[in-house]
Amino acid sequence: MDEKLLLDNIKNIYRRISHAAMRAGRSPEEVRLIAVTKKVDEKMILKALDIGLRDFGENRIQEAKDKLSNLKSQISDYKVIWHLIGHLQKNKAKTAVEFFELIHSVDSIELAEIIDRNAEKFGKIQNILIQVKLSDEDAKHGISKHNIIGLLSRIANMENLHVLGLMTMPPYFDNPEMARPYFKELREVRDFAIKNGFTLSELSMGMSNDFEVAIEEGATMVRVGTAIFGERGL
Ligand SMILES: *Cc1c(COP(=O)(O)O)cnc(C)c1O
Repeated sequence: MDEKLLLDNIKNIYRRISHAAMRAGRSPEEVRLIAVTKKVDEKMILKALDIGLRDFGENRIQEAKDKLSNLKSQISDYKVIWHLIGHLQKNKAKTAVEFFELIHSVDSIELAEIIDRNAEKFGKIQNILIQVKLSDEDAKHGISKHNIIGLLSRIANMENLHVLGLMTMPPYFDNPEMARPYFKELREVRDFAIKNGFTLSELSMGMSNDFEVAIEEGATMVRVGTAIFGERGL
């Protein structure tokens, strides 16, 4: 993809983000665009940086580690924020803490404990989101909404973790309106947690196909890949 098309795509996404936010009576600045760069190469990431994007999401640890190592010297002048958006296996937690500013996919006490221990080793407070599973698809990860308060209470005692909010991934629908109930439910789960005394501000929800609906329902972070970089090869 050439720089011109990439720029057009990014402008177009920002315009759609603004419109969706305004429809919901929200400020567009409340919504952070995370450019999902899985299967996108370093050259393209550099172009996106050049255009002005600073938040990037990766879903596989090894792929992210390789890219970040290759990019390191070229991007040290930029304040780049790397988001881990995919499922995290416990044995990869150390690398995740080393490379990512925000881990979106914490879904168990055991995983939280391992991240906490690794963050302590790195002398870092690790920012995390709790991934909530609101559908009954087997393939999706995430904690049940009924166990959220329990998980948040346990994490509150972990000194090296900072929970910023919640993340979810609804089933895929051709019609984005079908995803709306899931986004609304995540917002309600967050509000319930706030009522129970937890400070959670972020809602990471919405992808290329449905980010506008997610914003109307309160998303503060949208994770967009295909609509920026085009279809991913296999
Ligand atoms: C791939 C991926 C996205 C982006 O998907 P697109 O449809 O390409 O925008 C968002 N979130 C997660 C967790 C992903 O794995």
